[in-house]
Amino acid sequence: MKSTFKVTFWGVRGSIPVPGPQTTKYGGNTPCVEVRCADQLFVFDTGSGVVSLGRKLLSEGPLLGHIFYTHFHWDHIQGFPFFAPLFNPANQFHLYGQHNTPHTLEKALGGQMEQPVFPITIKHLPATLHFHQVCESVPLEIGPVKISPFKLNHPSPCLGYRLDFEGRSMVYGADNEHGADGLHQVYLDHARDADLVIFDAAYTDEEYTGHKGPPRKNWGHSTATHALDLLQHPGAKRVALFHHDYLRTDQELTAIETNIQQRHPEIFCAREGMTLEL
Ligand SMILES: [Zn+2]
Ligand SMILES: [Zn+2]
Repeated sequence: MKSTFKVTFWGVRGSIPVPGPQTTKYGGNTPCVEVRCADQLFVFDTGSGVVSLGRKLLSEGPLLGHIFYTHFHWDHIQGFPFFAPLFNPANQFHLYGQHNTPHTLEKALGGQMEQPVFPITIKHLPATLHFHQVCESVPLEIGPVKISPFKLNHPSPCLGYRLDFEGRSMVYGADNEHGADGLHQVYLDHARDADLVIFDAAYTDEEYTGHKGPPRKNWGHSTATHALDLLQHPGAKRVALFHHDYLRTDQELTAIETNIQQRHPEIFCAREGMTLEL
């Protein structure tokens, strides 16, 4: 029997949390994805979605978790100070951020926890934290799970991750811009045969090209149409559209999803609370 490989979306929104009546279906929290491979806990980014994950994890413990960061933009780190398991001294977390950036992960996470903007510094968190620097193209093995970081196309240095476990795989690949010449080769290589790719689709085609508002080229994000490119290569089996624009309503996201599914049935909009078994 295969071990559990489960992916849960806790935050799917870009830039800033947007709770309210327009976002009840897809959710208003910023990026956070939980992955369970047998008894191992992995978390990708700690946007505001990590707050609800933390509340769920309070019933488990002591915890040993691995938290991977794409980059340090605020929407990917802002939930960290409110992640409840950090306040239990029995818990341990390994935190992974990219090397060779002006700010280390500890500085980026800790910088939002200093006076006058936050009352408790990162040093005073009761849980034990281990910081690690990861490099693109240097895979890590955590027990039976292989994690391969790769470079994304974003204004701030940014890493995607491919996770392989017992013959199944997923890619966490936001924030990323598709680019004028198509999806870059490194992305395609990492998405090859993946059971699930979590794909940045912040913009509509009209927004991206500047037919609606300013052109968003070089802003570091892609569209749902760009996701089709993946499925035209020997790429992913399923694609979850992710990092929805904070101004996108439920109604608009449903329209985007309906439209893109007419072109390929294996694309869908990630939704807060959605769990997929790989
Ligand atoms: Zn973002
Ligand atoms: Zn970003």
